Amino acid sequence: MLNGFYESTDGYGRISVKSNYHTHNYLCGHAGGTVCDYVKKAVEFGLETLGVSDHCASPLGTVEPYITPKTMDRLYLPQFDEARKIYGERIRILSAVEIEYFSGHDEYYSELLKKLDYLVLGQHEYILKGARRNSFCDGLSEADVVAYFYCAIEGLRSGKFALFAHPDLIFYRKPKITLGMAEAFDRAIRAAVENNVAVELNANGIRNHGFRYPTDMLIELCKKYDAKVVVSSDCHSPDEFIDENLLRLYAYAQNNKLNITDELNLKN
Ligand SMILES: [Zn+2]
Ligand SMILES: [Zn+2]
Repeated sequence: MLNGFYESTDGYGRISVKSNYHTHNYLCGHAGGTVCDYVKKAVEFGLETLGVSDHCASPLGTVEPYITPKTMDRLYLPQFDEARKIYGERIRILSAVEIEYFSGHDEYYSELLKKLDYLVLGQHEYILKGARRNSFCDGLSEADVVAYFYCAIEGLRSGKFALFAHPDLIFYRKPKITLGMAEAFDRAIRAAVENNVAVELNANGIRNHGFRYPTDMLIELCKKYDAKVVVSSDCHSPDEFIDENLLRLYAYAQNNKLNITDELNLKN
């Protein structure tokens, strides 16, 4: 493995991995590794850019540990300083978090952007009729799916985000797709394109979630709108970083002739 080019063993052909914008950190409570651990792997793999984007508490708070405004300064950001000191000459290291968007709290996101290079929109939760709902558990009805995409579209239009993570997460429980769901999904990908937010194909949907995402619908919408696509590892351990799942996903994106990019529209 040299300079991010891989000759695959499974006939995927030559795959170039130059960047990765979605990795995690021990602070979220369900991942392992420090920023340095991920950067070390990225340097070994010959990446030019690594973004670390651990989960962050949303403005509505969170029940999981996640990064909070308190741990951000004390425990998260210093990890980037340390990594840049050691590896900064060899790789571009970007700081980020993955977070839900809830409207009416834009100041919260602006404050994060003062400290970080970019934000990843990961809509693991959304609001339906005033109540918080969970994308992994609640996405079976049309009202839920439409509400999920409604929250995501507001986030995409907010100007705060550079990457739309696993856009089809809401189909996790494989609901029967209705016309209303499909239309909402279409509007979301169109909103990403119109607002210059890259659309993610996420290898964790293969690695840990049994091929639940990306869906065929997402691939078709990316083609329809010629969306800028970022292929992400979303690994929760440095040892899973560039694995067979990520390579398969790259090959899949390439075979579908998607518009893969290595550059995000960073906000800073
Ligand atoms: Zn996670
Ligand atoms: Zn996520």
